[in-house]
Amino acid sequence: MKFLIATHNQKKKAELQRILQPLNIEVNTADDLKINLSDVEETGLTFEENALLKARSGCLESGLPTIGDDSGLCVDALDGAPGIYSARFAGDHGNDDKNILKLLEALKDVKQEDRTAHFVCAACCAFPDGTQITVRGECHGVIAFEKKGDGGFGYDPVFLVDGKSFGEISSKEKDTISHRSKALNALAKELRRKI
Ligand code: IMP
Repeated sequence: MKFLIATHNQKKKAELQRILQPLNIEVNTADDLKINLSDVEETGLTFEENALLKARSGCLESGLPTIGDDSGLCVDALDGAPGIYSARFAGDHGNDDKNILKLLEALKDVKQEDRTAHFVCAACCAFPDGTQITVRGECHGVIAFEKKGDGGFGYDPVFLVDGKSFGEISSKEKDTISHRSKALNALAKELRRKI
């Protein structure tokens, strides 16, 4: 069965393909199918709403069941910020380094025990019949005082689980505990029931 994934990110595609392979689902990006998808404005107020916007738009334009996701970092001492605004925390033209600098600055007076945070990933599969499945995965940790390791992307170098940052562990290790793998595994479980 052919599915579309509403991302150009080949790493996300590969992870999803690994998880959905046993269900006989073939995951394609718009590039694979040689179709153009409109850019979706992330106007939702929750991760789930944004994942649904991406999935529904891709489904309408392709006619295929479409998976969309949205993720970010929620920091308790910042009342859940940057949350759905994680990618643009340091402004529309910000980047990973600027986002991390802004985060560390915002937390500079926050004690070790109050630096708790979690990554969230919402994943949604929208079907051409108008139905959809939405799931969420979370990964809990703490924010470091400085960057550790240079692997991964986004906030990985300052997000610690069991004393190690996501920038210090392999992507294989990260895949076993990450918010994204939890959401995608939950999605696979729901899809197994539905299709
Ligand atoms: P998106 O859902 O791919 O648009 O990701 C939103 C933003 O959340 C990214 O640009 C990162 O800043 C942050 N983010 C999401 N997942 C991760 C992760 O696994 N590691 C580090 N940062 C992440």
